[in-house]
Amino acid sequence: MSTVCIVGSGGYVGLTYAVALADRNHDVIGLDLDAVKIASLNEGRAPIFEPGLDNLLRRGLDSGRLRFTTDASDAVAAAGVVFICVGTPPDSSGRAELGFVLSAARSIAQHARGHTIVVNKSTLPVGSVQRVVEMLSEHGHPDASFSVVSNPEFLREGTALDDVFYPDRIVLGADDHWAAQQVANLYATWTAPIVFTDPRSAEMIKYASNAFLATKISFINEVALICERLGADVLTVARGMGLDDRIGARYLGAGAGFGGSCFPKDVRALAAMARDSGADTELLDAVLRINAAARLHVVRKVLHELGDAQGKRVAILGLTFKPDTDDTRESPAIDVIAELVAAGITVRATDPMVSSRSIPQLSSIDVVPDAYSAAMGCDVVVVMTEWAEYLALDFDRLANAMRGRLVVDARNALSPTLVEAAGLRYTGIGRPSSSLITPLAPPATVLGETSVAAD
Ligand code: NAD
Repeated sequence: MSTVCIVGSGGYVGLTYAVALADRNHDVIGLDLDAVKIASLNEGRAPIFEPGLDNLLRRGLDSGRLRFTTDASDAVAAAGVVFICVGTPPDSSGRAELGFVLSAARSIAQHARGHTIVVNKSTLPVGSVQRVVEMLSEHGHPDASFSVVSNPEFLREGTALDDVFYPDRIVLGADDHWAAQQVANLYATWTAPIVFTDPRSAEMIKYASNAFLATKISFINEVALICERLGADVLTVARGMGLDDRIGARYLGAGAGFGGSCFPKDVRALAAMARDSGADTELLDAVLRINAAARLHVVRKVLHELGDAQGKRVAILGLTFKPDTDDTRESPAIDVIAELVAAGITVRATDPMVSSRSIPQLSSIDVVPDAYSAAMGCDVVVVMTEWAEYLALDFDRLANAMRGRLVVDARNALSPTLVEAAGLRYTGIGRPSSSLITPLAPPATVLGETSVAAD
């Protein structure tokens, strides 16, 4: 079987695929522009945190089937199949930035010889297979030819290896059926159903899937706010809903909203694609608006408790956008901290994976090693990420460290009974104990829209 090259092998998707394919007996060369990441990978240390990754990385290196390089000519020329796994961050208008992908495609074009199958695994706007085909044919060597297949990725950080080895489905979009079948052959030891389709539908499946999951989260967050006003418990409501097979229990966790490197950017990118094509985006716009409001709702709970912000201190437990990752991209915690700091509050934060001030938005606050040091002398403690160690806190010790009494559980992950047994007050999102918060006036924008509609 021919060698596989993974472009972007220092990132979450690229590295997970590099180690997974090597583990399934493929010869894999990981390519990345970042020399520091490549040096670390060749020494058997993953530059990102993902459970299980370090072990599989070392196993791959030891087997001789996996190696890493910054040299595109070495990596691409040796490969029959090249996966593009580079980032597609949003530009200022929310559209996916294709710069990294197109530059990777140009580099592949310059170094490939014979026939090469290029696989778009990065999340790319509808029509991108065609853009990559054009880039390859414009810059390709006369002896080179290419097929391009869209194979979008659905892994979640924190469970990336499980998701890659046991996906719900594998999507392959290509006009060239032979090429799609060759990529399917790489997955011969996988048991997931394969959806063969055209490139545009494959690209759309990825965006529509993420937008749907984001919609579920915003839906339950809106329900949570209604629960707070009506005295229902969103946890029980979500459980009662989720037992219905047609609805399903997952992605019905009310809290501070979705973050990370995928949902926010992919919903914005889908909305941008829709606008560019003249389609409506009412639901997608609402999903994003509700998500932004979910973060502000946490801030409002804290401000309501503190009254005057002068001299007040708040501890934030958790900086990553979810547990079991070191990724802070679009993390709700970062936005909540920014709002609290802007209100004049002193914030101290902690996270098991974020120990330094390497994140620019955190430069004005203290990041300390553990929850008890973070809580020392604080008026309010806010759990922003449901790391296992925060669920198992010694709440007596936390209460002794704190100056105030309120714990805001922005992920509905703690046991209110345990928190309250330590003499603390608990408030979650959309839960009955939230009744200590007086009902909030609807945001001004909603009032404005209503009155315009009434006119
Ligand atoms: P990342 O930022 O973690 O990693 C990208 C890597 O690509 C970096 O190491 C970077 O140095 C490297 N790179 C950039 N340009 C390069 C080039 N020309 N040649 C070689 N290397 C290059 O990105 P990620 O989070 O792994 O995401 C990659 C893509 O997968 C994105 O489109 C993302 O939307 C999608 N995706 C991500 C996830 C996720 O959970 N992170 C899940 C599904 C899909």
